[in-house]
Amino acid sequence: MLFRESCRDFTDREVRPLVDTAEEAGTFPVQLWASLAKAGLLGLSIPESHGGSEGDALAVAIVAEELSRASAGIAITPLVSSYMAAPHLARNGSPEQRDRWLSRISGGEAVAAIAVTEPGAGSDVAGLTSKARRTDDGWVIDGRKMFITNAGLADVLIVGARSGGPRHSGITLFEVPKDAPGLSFGSPLTKMGWRSSDTREVVLDGVVVPHDTVVGAENLGFHQIMEGFQLERIALAGMGIGQAAECLDLVRAHVREREAFGAPLTGLQTVRHRVATMEIDLDAARLVTYQAAARMDAGHPEAPVSVARAKYLAAVAANRIIDDAVQLFGGAGFVEETPVARHYRDARILRIGGGTDEVQLEILSKSMKGA
Ligand SMILES: Cc1cc2nc3c(=O)[nH]c(=O)nc-3n(C[C@H](O)[C@H](O)[C@H](O)COP(=O)(O)OP(=O)(O)OC[C@H]3O[C@@H](n4cnc5c(N)ncnc54)[C@H](O)[C@@H]3O)c2cc1C
Repeated sequence: MLFRESCRDFTDREVRPLVDTAEEAGTFPVQLWASLAKAGLLGLSIPESHGGSEGDALAVAIVAEELSRASAGIAITPLVSSYMAAPHLARNGSPEQRDRWLSRISGGEAVAAIAVTEPGAGSDVAGLTSKARRTDDGWVIDGRKMFITNAGLADVLIVGARSGGPRHSGITLFEVPKDAPGLSFGSPLTKMGWRSSDTREVVLDGVVVPHDTVVGAENLGFHQIMEGFQLERIALAGMGIGQAAECLDLVRAHVREREAFGAPLTGLQTVRHRVATMEIDLDAARLVTYQAAARMDAGHPEAPVSVARAKYLAAVAANRIIDDAVQLFGGAGFVEETPVARHYRDARILRIGGGTDEVQLEILSKSMKGA
C-alpha cells in the first residue's frame, strides 16, 4: 500500500503537470527521467548491484497502473525502457553488458528500446527476417523494424534478428547502441494515441556490432522474447487498469455533478447500473492481473496462461470501461483535450501491442486440455 501511495504521489506531483504539454508537443517530457530515477521507478527489475531494487512483477503492475492514471503516453516510455527492454539485459546479458547499461537505465541516464516487430512480422515473431551475419570482427545486421517505442530516445536497442535456422530456431537478440554504424531511424509516427511516446521505424543497413553484443544465447532469442513478453504483458495490463480506474473516478464525480431533467445523473438507475458494471469489470481485471503477477513471481507453472488471461481481460475491460466513461460524459467526452477522450485514444493500443487479443486467446486455447 505504501508503495502504491508513493507512486500515486509521484504521479500527481511530477507527471500530471506535464501531461497536456507533452500531449500537444507529441514528445516525452525528458525532464521526467531524473525524477523517475530518484523515485526508484526505473529499477524495479534491475539488480541492486546496478542501482535497482529487484522488485517483483506486482510492483511493475502497480507502477504501470499509477503512472497511466495520469497519461499512458508518458507511462509507456519508462515502462518500455525499464520493464520491456532492460530485463533482457538483466536476465540474459553478460556481466559486461549489464555493467554497460543497467546502472545507467535505473539511474535515468540511458534509455532502452526493444526492437522485434518488422513491417512483415508482428504477431508472428518467428517469421522475422532481419538477418544477422557473423564476420571475423563481429556481426552485420540488415533489416527493418517497425513501430519501435523509444526508438528516437534510446541509447541502446535490443534487436531480434535471424542468425540461424528457420522460424523459432534461428533468432538471436543483439545489444545495438544508438551510434552503431548503419543504424538509422524514421520520423516519429503520428499515432491515434500514446502521442507523447516516441514510435518509429528502425533501419538496420549493414549495422556492425562486435561479437560480445549477443544478448543471451545465440539462436535462442525467440524463447528470450517470449520470456520478456511476460513482464511486458503485466505492465500493459497494469496500464489498462490504471487508465480505467482514473476514468471511473472521473465518471463518479461527473455523474454526481451533472444534471439532466432537473436531477443529477446519479438519480437515473441506468446510470448507476452502468457505473456498477464498470466497477465489476475493473475489479475483475485487477484481480486477474495481480494473480498473474503473483504467479510470475512465484514461478507458478501456469504463470504464462495467467499472464495471457490478464493481458486480454485488462485490455478489453479497459476499453469497455473507458468507452462507457466517454458515453457518460456525453459531448464533453468527445472533445479531444478532455482526459477521458485521451484515455479512450490511449487504451486502444492495449488490445494490439505486446501480443494482440487474438494472440492471447490463441495462447489460452492452446493450453486447453487435449488441444
Ligand atoms: C504504438 C505502438 C508501439 C509499439 N511498440 C513496439 C516496440 O517497442 N517493439 C516492438 O517490437 N513492437 C512494437 N509494436 C508492435 C506491436 O507489438 C505489433 O503491432 C503487434 O504485435 C501486432 O503485430 P502487427 O501490427 O504486425 O499485426 P499483425 O500480426 O499483422 O496482425 C493483424 C491482425 O491479425 C490478427 N492475427 C495475426 N495472427 C493471428 C493468429 N495466429 N490468430 C488470430 N489472429 C491473428 C491479429 O490479432 C490482428 O488482429 C508497437 C506497436 C504500436 C502500434
